[in-house]
Amino acid sequence: MPDSFDIVIAGGGMVGISLALQLGAVLPPETSVLLVEGFPIPAPTPGQAPDYHPAFDARSTALSYSSRLIYEQMQVWDDLCQWLCPIESIHVSSRGRFGSTLLRASEHNWSALGYVVENSWLGNTLIRQLHATGRVEIRSPAKVVGATPRGAGVSLQLEGESPEIAAGLLLVADGASSGLRDYLGVAVQEKPYQQHALVANIAFAEPHRGCAYERFTDEGPLAVLPLLPARAGEQRGALVWTLPPERARHLSSCPDEEFLQTLQQRFGYRLGRLLQVGERHEYPLSLVQSSEQVRQGVVVMGNAAHALHPVAGQGFNLALRDVAELGRVLAQGIGEGLPPGDLGLLQRYQRRQQPDQERTIAFSDRVPALFMHADPLLGMGRDLALSGLDFLPGLKREFVRHAAGVSATGGQANG
Ligand SMILES: Cc1cc2nc3c(=O)[nH]c(=O)nc-3n(C[C@H](O)[C@H](O)[C@H](O)COP(=O)(O)OP(=O)(O)OC[C@H]3O[C@@H](n4cnc5c(N)ncnc54)[C@H](O)[C@@H]3O)c2cc1C
Repeated sequence: MPDSFDIVIAGGGMVGISLALQLGAVLPPETSVLLVEGFPIPAPTPGQAPDYHPAFDARSTALSYSSRLIYEQMQVWDDLCQWLCPIESIHVSSRGRFGSTLLRASEHNWSALGYVVENSWLGNTLIRQLHATGRVEIRSPAKVVGATPRGAGVSLQLEGESPEIAAGLLLVADGASSGLRDYLGVAVQEKPYQQHALVANIAFAEPHRGCAYERFTDEGPLAVLPLLPARAGEQRGALVWTLPPERARHLSSCPDEEFLQTLQQRFGYRLGRLLQVGERHEYPLSLVQSSEQVRQGVVVMGNAAHALHPVAGQGFNLALRDVAELGRVLAQGIGEGLPPGDLGLLQRYQRRQQPDQERTIAFSDRVPALFMHADPLLGMGRDLALSGLDFLPGLKREFVRHAAGVSATGGQANG
């Protein structure tokens, strides 16, 4: 007899594990869920934090208010809080131009505009909670290498294993270069930005006071997100520096002193002297969009569905709103007696999330293009747009609502 599950999640990155937690929380206990992840997910060790997960790399993520609400509902927020640095303000500026603006949480009666977490701590917290609930079966290290529609669901092949696994619904969450999406013949649209993101943690002399910096330069946007200190008295931040590929390659391997000097020139002295840089990583950037997200028995999720430019810190926050909505729709459908892979039910999910996806993707795609344009007239418009944020409260509010992810939820961020 082959193994059989109502729902199988392929991929246990930040999206796959969040999906597992969400489904475990909202679906009836008799709905069986399996999570399959290619890298080893550490087993729970009493009294010890789980070891780092390879998919949760050196990056940090700015979580929006909408993500906070979702993690509160999943009951992971309280545990996560100890690893979060609240963003109290965002300073937006443009190198070599006069425009700049400061967006403050307090102006909107919010306690924070977002929260920065190191991916490894987010991963550890999610994994710990998943083990604690014991609601979802985990197979790792294991890889789903084949998916064939069978009856109302999908028959799954795991690498080096037989027999196949029968799934009523397959959730494809195996990342931007999804092998399963290709296997299923789902086309993708890819728009390369001809830019790489250089990511590293940096230490500096002055306190960041919870301020996130977004600086637009002629080479691309540069962001420094505030981080909690790793040691007492330390001031550090997460750098995401978007650069032409050749520059990124050079700066990711040059000596630390040269790197810090170049960054100081581009970023200025807002955080005082730059003192130290940690391990540097490079990511080629493209807008990747799956041409289909739902089929009978299949939903494509997370980066496999849409991978965005990181400038506005929206990719994971959007994916988490998809996760929450899919959980709601599946719980409703199962309550109505529908199988989880029912096409009509999955299309209901897509209809509900489509406006949010379209709005968020368009915003993430437009911002870097606007701020990199060589046309001086456009440059002037951009300066006005930046300083205009201060003069036009409506525009500024819209920018802040995007940053908080609340234009999508209509929620009120005052917690
Ligand atoms: C530089 C940078 C900064 C960013 N900053 C932010 C931010 O501040 N805020 C924000 O919202 N977003 C941000 N993002 C976006 C965010 O990182 C992504 O949205 C998120 O990582 C997507 O996670 P995922 O789980 O879909 O994919 P992945 O992280 O790629 O995970 C895929 C998982 O699937 C597993 N897998 C692959 N194939 C298989 C298989 N066949 N079987 C089983 N398992 C498999 C892999 O091992 C992996 O664990 C940033 C992105 C970048 C590049």
